[in-house]
Amino acid sequence: MSLSEEIQRRRTFAIISHPDAGKTTLTEKLLLYGGAIDRAGSVKAREGGAAAHSDWMSIEQERGISVTSAAMQFEYRGRAINLLDTPGHQDFSEDTYRALTAADSVVMLLDCAKGVEEQTKKLFRVARERRLPIFTFVNKLDRPGREPVELIDEVEELFGLHAVPMTWPIGSGPDFKGVYVRATGQIQVFERAKAGQKARVAGKGGLDDPEIAALLTPTELQQLKDDVELMDHVLPTFDREAFLRGEQSPMFFGSAVNNFGVAEFLDEFLDLAPAPGPRPLAEGGEVRADQPFTAFVFKVQANMNKAHRDRVAFARIVSGHFERGMEALHVRGKKAIKLNYPHMFFGRERQIVDEAYPGDILGLINPGLFRIGDVLSAAGPVEFHAVPRFSPEQFVSVRLADPGARKGFLKGLDQIAEEGVVQVFWPKGGAPMPILGAVGRLQFEVLQHRLKDEYACPVLLEPRGFQMARWLEGGWPEPSRFWGELVEDGEGRPAILFENDWQRRTTAEKCPDLRFLEHPSK
Ligand code: GDP
Repeated sequence: MSLSEEIQRRRTFAIISHPDAGKTTLTEKLLLYGGAIDRAGSVKAREGGAAAHSDWMSIEQERGISVTSAAMQFEYRGRAINLLDTPGHQDFSEDTYRALTAADSVVMLLDCAKGVEEQTKKLFRVARERRLPIFTFVNKLDRPGREPVELIDEVEELFGLHAVPMTWPIGSGPDFKGVYVRATGQIQVFERAKAGQKARVAGKGGLDDPEIAALLTPTELQQLKDDVELMDHVLPTFDREAFLRGEQSPMFFGSAVNNFGVAEFLDEFLDLAPAPGPRPLAEGGEVRADQPFTAFVFKVQANMNKAHRDRVAFARIVSGHFERGMEALHVRGKKAIKLNYPHMFFGRERQIVDEAYPGDILGLINPGLFRIGDVLSAAGPVEFHAVPRFSPEQFVSVRLADPGARKGFLKGLDQIAEEGVVQVFWPKGGAPMPILGAVGRLQFEVLQHRLKDEYACPVLLEPRGFQMARWLEGGWPEPSRFWGELVEDGEGRPAILFENDWQRRTTAEKCPDLRFLEHPSK
């Protein structure tokens, strides 16, 4: 296959949703269709455990949440699909934001009873900023929920996005029978399948098919006919260009757990979702997917596999044909490196890849070399837009349970901070222990757990009253002219921690020559 054929058959996307909307379940079902797993149940419901293939750390298993994000690749109908894993818990939204920098499109998953929820809104905004085309999948139709039109209106009101139904539910709650596929005019009536199996189709046919009439009640059929009529006359028609521009969102209805409407979604998704396109360069211009090899690191993860005790940098290929053993410039380090052992991951399992293409995610074993945002290039020094880093909102002090374990602590902290789990601040003037910042509290728990588990270094954390960090440009403030605590971040950049917005404003007024930035400049 030629490079351009390989590019055209790739689909790299992420699912965004509020926790509990059914992202794990939908992921399992998609993987099931892709043949990546045999039974969907094997992903989550192993005896007594709640471990999905994408959950590999013990803390995730204990707490039943997905902490990390990486990608899973599977093939379906001749397409190579990369599904980026996005942690559902809001404390890890930073990881999710970064994963979105590696996606070409997004599926917004809604619970039909709850509609658009808080976390969905936040993630939607990030997807919008990145100008990603957005699909909508309305889930849990087997439960009582809101009317489809109400959900369409909500998406429009909140986001100014025209949701255009591509499928339409027949019945809802216990009477959810199937979906009508607008593109083909076909109705799929489902039969509830055993857990973990593909949905059985009880029958399919057009609106006037006698077989369908036999499977639905006359009221259900009439209601559907009315709905179809209404949709065709009142709602905008689907326009792929408008979708790619982010003005329309193709909307699908189903029940992930029952596997209703998932195949119908996947089929259209494959046709509509964009293949990897050009990516803008920091200094202007762009790199097209068919140009020589470039990739950027959007995630670094330590000790994914305890047996290996290594670090993996996940890089999204932007352009070109990747071959194992090839050389690429590590742009920040200004050094050519040989990429000998790139991996692709499927949950716990890893495989060495010989070839990869734009849209694919490479796992590079990272001997401390890669940082988030690093670029690899066979086309000279290029820089993409920075991968976002979020300003911390929660802070703690650290104490060592065993003061003798300081060396291990510093090493562990360094590695975990490099992954972007927490940010490290050293009080100015020298202090033995740092202050840590994070976007959500759970990130501290992850740090604590991993320091103990992976570096044999238990620590005690004490909450601090700071609410925000600002990076300083223009030097340090004069003594007596500032509130808050002066610190240096892990890379020695001056910053200041404030307890509230009043402190920030007053300090800014008293130090008019300084700039207070929410994110460090590079
Ligand atoms: P996540 O937090 O978004 O990953 O959500 P999960 O996939 O873990 O699902 C949350 C809960 O909703 C679980 O108990 C699922 O079994 C359930 N669930 C997922 N999809 C459906 C569905 O289509 N119908 C119903 N009734 N429950 C569902």
